[in-house]
Amino acid sequence: MNNNSTVALEYCGNYEAREVQAAVDKLFDDLGGIKTFVKPGQSVLIKPNLLTDRPPEQAVTTHPEVVRAIIRILKQHGAVPFVADSPANVVKIEKVWEKTGFKAMCEQEQTPLVSLEKSGVISYEVDGFSFTIAKPVLDADVIVNVPKIKTHTLTTLTGAVKNMFGTVPGFQKMNLHKLHSTVADFGKLIAVIYRHVPPHLNIADAVIAMHGEGPSAGQPIRLKFLAASRDAVAMDQTICHLLKINPLTVPYLRYLSVVKPNEETEDQIETVGMPTETLSTKNFIIPSTMLMHMIPQWLVNLLAPFVWIAPIISDKCIKCGRCIEGCPTKALSSLHKHGMPVMEQKKCTGCCCCHEVCPVGAITMQQSPLLNFVRRGKFP
Ligand code: SF4
Ligand code: SF4
Repeated sequence: MNNNSTVALEYCGNYEAREVQAAVDKLFDDLGGIKTFVKPGQSVLIKPNLLTDRPPEQAVTTHPEVVRAIIRILKQHGAVPFVADSPANVVKIEKVWEKTGFKAMCEQEQTPLVSLEKSGVISYEVDGFSFTIAKPVLDADVIVNVPKIKTHTLTTLTGAVKNMFGTVPGFQKMNLHKLHSTVADFGKLIAVIYRHVPPHLNIADAVIAMHGEGPSAGQPIRLKFLAASRDAVAMDQTICHLLKINPLTVPYLRYLSVVKPNEETEDQIETVGMPTETLSTKNFIIPSTMLMHMIPQWLVNLLAPFVWIAPIISDKCIKCGRCIEGCPTKALSSLHKHGMPVMEQKKCTGCCCCHEVCPVGAITMQQSPLLNFVRRGKFP
């Protein structure tokens, strides 16, 4: 009998429908069967990562075949699934649905795709944070969280816990970045939102993940597995272990597991399914900005002129203006309409929103010479 923190791991070599379905079915079996998660007639929100309008092969968003397999097993059991996520605020949801393959897949599976931008919200004040959650998330009987495993220049990893930030409608996510601009504060906010809407089940897509400068400008990497757990923290920690990421460099995991552990539900993490040794990799590239996340905030404040991360815009820029629109602090502007973005360094908080929304990967987050020196032992 497994516990709440059991993490199931299954090999899945590609996104061919039959292979994905077999792996997803096995994950449910490994965790005690679908009956332990959902009853016939219950509504189930499937929450993928639909960050932006990129095709599935770029590994920026959850692959639609993983969600298709989950829809099918839920329907076989008489549940009523729907799919919803809120992307970055500057991208129209209809465009995201189309480009990511979710529109076509959901039409084929006759499953509703719901916009979290237009269906009402409930407001909360929790632990000093004010935020809203989209109503369809709160109305669902069951939440199945389906993150894409990626690096993240601001939070090192984006996995199951961080994926629940997408239950906050788009326009407000930008404001929260502005209000909670330090890495530690933003990590705490992610943790608070996750605890406020904890998923019943998490299924991570790591068949083709993203490493390097994620969550949208890194490179795809074939990890060839799917993971599942009732406990998002246990799953993210296990994935950190497989990818050789120190969980203490992931600010929301540090907060959830060290600063404020939830003693009632914290079980020993155990893994079932594929042995971890067969899935772990040494080739996973962690974002270069990770070092910044290990420095205590008081020291960052003290050394502010020498310790920072900020965007660099390359000539790949197509002057679409998304980064200007998505910058919460108005640090980016353009001298004329459809011009190249220009940054005002003193207004930049290093939140990475511009980096996330750039459609062509023209923005890389760079760290200060001092951080580079500490990381490499030499100035660049
Ligand atoms: S320029 Fe980019 S990193 Fe800096 S505050 Fe604006 S969106 Fe955030
Ligand atoms: S840097 Fe990227 S998001 Fe910004 S204008 Fe250029 S292409 Fe668009």
